[in-house]
Amino acid sequence: MEPKKVVVIGGGFAGINLVNQLVNDHRFAITLVDRNNYNFFPPLLYQVATGFLEVSNISYPFRKLLRGKPNVNFRLADFVRVLPEENKVVLSNGELAYDILVFATGTETNYFGMENVKKHAIPMKTINDAVSMRNTLLQRMEKATITEAPEGRKRLLTIVVAGAGPTGVELSGMFAEMRKNVILKEYPQFAGSGAKIYLVDGSPNVLAAMSEKSRHDSYDALTEIGVEVKLNTQVKDFDGKVVTFSDGEQIHAHTLIWAAGVTAHRPEGLPAESFGRGNRMLVDEFNKVQGTENIYAIGDTAICLGDPAYPNGHPQVAQVAIQQGQNLAKNLKNELSGRTLNPFRYHDKGSMAIISRNRAVADIGKMHFKGFIAWFMWLFVHLMSLINYRNRLATFYNWAWAYFTKDQSLRFIIRPDSKSNL
Ligand SMILES: Cc1cc2nc3c(=O)[nH]c(=O)nc-3n(C[C@H](O)[C@H](O)[C@H](O)COP(=O)(O)OP(=O)(O)OC[C@H]3O[C@@H](n4cnc5c(N)ncnc54)[C@H](O)[C@@H]3O)c2cc1C
Repeated sequence: MEPKKVVVIGGGFAGINLVNQLVNDHRFAITLVDRNNYNFFPPLLYQVATGFLEVSNISYPFRKLLRGKPNVNFRLADFVRVLPEENKVVLSNGELAYDILVFATGTETNYFGMENVKKHAIPMKTINDAVSMRNTLLQRMEKATITEAPEGRKRLLTIVVAGAGPTGVELSGMFAEMRKNVILKEYPQFAGSGAKIYLVDGSPNVLAAMSEKSRHDSYDALTEIGVEVKLNTQVKDFDGKVVTFSDGEQIHAHTLIWAAGVTAHRPEGLPAESFGRGNRMLVDEFNKVQGTENIYAIGDTAICLGDPAYPNGHPQVAQVAIQQGQNLAKNLKNELSGRTLNPFRYHDKGSMAIISRNRAVADIGKMHFKGFIAWFMWLFVHLMSLINYRNRLATFYNWAWAYFTKDQSLRFIIRPDSKSNL
């Protein structure tokens, strides 16, 4: 029997877990397509952005991951459109035929139509964003050292973080920690600059998706370390110098970090009935896209209907993506073997966020943890979730170094050479 041609677009949590379960099953010939040549771990992007981890600690090349797996191919390309009637996808560098197509393309930053914010704010979604944030923040600090006018210096050093989900909380906590332990030591001239770190959110709480205890604990911890938290407030505009809020208040800052929302990218070629809110693909409990025969979607880009515990779809978190990837792999095998398919049911393993050194919050089932124990749990879970031993060891080393020295040393401004764009 000819192997089934499975094309997987996107090698994030969902795509790579699907592929990993299908390797060595020679009934499938898999092509993994991604616009990057590496898999990466978004929950620790902010640590690359703040110089605590190196890019290579949280990423790994697909070709190396898939080495020695003869039924899997990797293709570096951007997905362009699907031609369902021909069972083909058009990529930025050619076409691919499929028997089974899987979208695992995740989401992209949502600026809610605010073009100025899109132009001037720093997003926090990809490795490129993290490296670019690190460069920008370091360059702004260097510029501040030669800026005499106090107002200009304060504007260069003030940071506004929009979005008080785990990314916004973790970033602003990290900035506060760095201000205390690193920046004032290396840039003593910044003492008394009046620069502030703001964390802003349109909802009434930080970490709105977590338990009430976690929301309160994280709010208290953030304010204690000097983060100014502004709730029930949305960013309305940003011209690169002034952030304007929904209540009319303005903050003079060059740096607005945008961690306030994501949206899916609507793939060209699918019928309108395939899409739900935020351009996410509507899938049944087997992750098949509505209105299609042999097209599936998993992870952040899918809204899975039919899980009784989540009638409106699942949260856009790593565990959903991982579990959907694994479940779909089982079902593709079951289908070929004539076995019954498993409907997708999400097992929530809990959620957590780190705030600063020795402080975090965690909700596991009905239990709530905070302080050192939650911080330790956060470190352990994130370390073990990295893709392989090499990345775990390297990350552990960088964390241990940062913990004992209260410092990090990855403060490099690296400017990519434009000649490298072939
Ligand atoms: C900064 C940040 C912090 C986060 N922290 C947490 C956390 O602490 N805990 C948690 O559970 N979740 C967290 N999340 C959410 C979590 O990362 C996502 O839920 C998860 O990554 C979704 O997995 P996915 O496979 O659906 O998409 P992704 O992991 O986003 O993977 C999508 C893949 O598709 C590729 N791709 C996209 N479009 C194309 C295209 N057109 N052509 C080719 N390739 C394409 C991308 O390059 C990428 O490799 C965080 C997300 C971010 C951005």
